[in-house]
Amino acid sequence: MKIAIIGGGVIGSLLAYELSHYEVNIVLIEKNHDFGLGVTKANSAIVHGGYDDPPGSLRAELCYKGNQLYEELAEKLKIPLKRTGSFVVARNCKEDLEKLEELLSRGEKNGVKGIEVVGRDFLEKYEPYLSEEFEYALHCPHTGITEPWMVAITAVKEAEKSGAELVRGDAVVGGEVSEGKVKYLQLKSGRKIEADIIINAAGLYYHEVANIFGVPTPQVYLRKGQYILLDHKASEMVKHIIFPLPSEKGKGKLVVPTIDGGVLLGPTSENLPEFTPEDVSTTLEGIKEVIIAGNELVPGIAKPNWIIKSFAGLRPETQKKDFFIENSDRVRNFVTVGAIRSPGLTAAPSIARYVIEEILERRMSINLTKRVSDKKSVPDSFRVKESDLDEIAAKIRNDEKYGRIICQCNQVSEAEIIKAIHEGARSIDGVKFRTRAGFGRCQGGFCTWKIAKILARELKIQLSEVRLNEEGTALFNGKVRV
Ligand SMILES: Cc1cc2nc3c(=O)[nH]c(=O)nc-3n(C[C@H](O)[C@H](O)[C@H](O)COP(=O)(O)OP(=O)(O)OC[C@H]3O[C@@H](n4cnc5c(N)ncnc54)[C@H](O)[C@@H]3O)c2cc1C
Repeated sequence: MKIAIIGGGVIGSLLAYELSHYEVNIVLIEKNHDFGLGVTKANSAIVHGGYDDPPGSLRAELCYKGNQLYEELAEKLKIPLKRTGSFVVARNCKEDLEKLEELLSRGEKNGVKGIEVVGRDFLEKYEPYLSEEFEYALHCPHTGITEPWMVAITAVKEAEKSGAELVRGDAVVGGEVSEGKVKYLQLKSGRKIEADIIINAAGLYYHEVANIFGVPTPQVYLRKGQYILLDHKASEMVKHIIFPLPSEKGKGKLVVPTIDGGVLLGPTSENLPEFTPEDVSTTLEGIKEVIIAGNELVPGIAKPNWIIKSFAGLRPETQKKDFFIENSDRVRNFVTVGAIRSPGLTAAPSIARYVIEEILERRMSINLTKRVSDKKSVPDSFRVKESDLDEIAAKIRNDEKYGRIICQCNQVSEAEIIKAIHEGARSIDGVKFRTRAGFGRCQGGFCTWKIAKILARELKIQLSEVRLNEEGTALFNGKVRV
């Protein structure tokens, strides 16, 4: 049995990882040169609590389960996970308190455990900088944060260890359907891939990919979310994820600590007038909106000299506002895992299991056999910044490059960068997402040049061939003299 997965975002990658526990051949096709750099790259990185999703929806069914599965993922894949806890804050007025109660009851209907409404004393103890306007909050202790791209990158690496084939930098652009089944996928490079089952996990492009094979799926429209990233200094002012009360437009603009010690403000919620999946531009109005909203929750957090970066992500929305995970009646070996909007990152581990157990095994009656032995080893997640001096000294004794710090802001050593390259990083962003080099205060101002030289040396390429990320993003436009 061969299964082809289209799209290496958090969904496709975790699917490849979960399927690698079964006796199947897997091929994962990603059009970018790296994994997790689509929608998975630009979001709030929250492992949501599960109380916000409408009871009865797939989102509600899969969110809390996904939240709980992150524990196992963090242990097995060594992905970062911090259970920061969250507060949905409310003013002392009838309207706000009713909304808070509604959230609590939704959570209970969704089977979420451990949530409670807390008052001002509790808030003051744990979030002293929170605006005094908020006197109550829904506290969810198991809400957390992660690094979404690392979930994808690590999951595919583990799947590869069990024999999965990873195709990067090539897109599915066509294929042949005959007698109600996809016979083969046609890649941009000209390669043809035959598989028994095709799983479409193409993120924003799932509708487009389904169309190639004549599979009807809900029309997708895009909702942009703009963010700003604040310096590590801002993390003194906030420890939990702070949500306003949700509205028609979603979870609202938040204050979110990041895994590596920064703070995110945002996102906005803007419906794009056209389907423009490459449009991740930010605007002055968007930035102002998130600054105002951040300051309303935690007054003074958005200090102008703490703002170090802005970025945007796009949500794949449908009218139904729910995940679309279906096997096709028309093309019998085709499954779509689409419309994966928030909380898709949280739900991803349970979405992967749902696809295997509910769609492949139950609805499509495919017998999948679990592998007897699991050869996967525990990934090495050593970071200089997170280790104590004895551990670092031991590493340096084996390899002096652990003592050569390349990224000063995030204290990333040359050895960590080399390891990232040997594990698949092919560009500055590839190194950045794996090691956090360039994610800090200076945003690569000091280290990009040094990383470029290491990339050129390790990949045996010219400096002029070093790219920021995808093709056409070379750092230099000619020969470089060092
Ligand atoms: C602003 C915003 C905030 C969010 N916040 C959160 C949050 O805090 N918590 C949470 O749980 N969720 C959040 N989400 C949702 C979450 O980010 C997504 O649900 C999740 O990342 C979707 O992953 P994916 O794998 O479906 O898509 P993607 O990551 O986009 O992956 C799809 C992949 O398919 C590839 N692809 C496309 N077409 C082809 C083709 N023809 N051939 C080969 N490859 C192809 C793309 O290059 C891409 O890498 C947020 C989303 C947004 C936009």
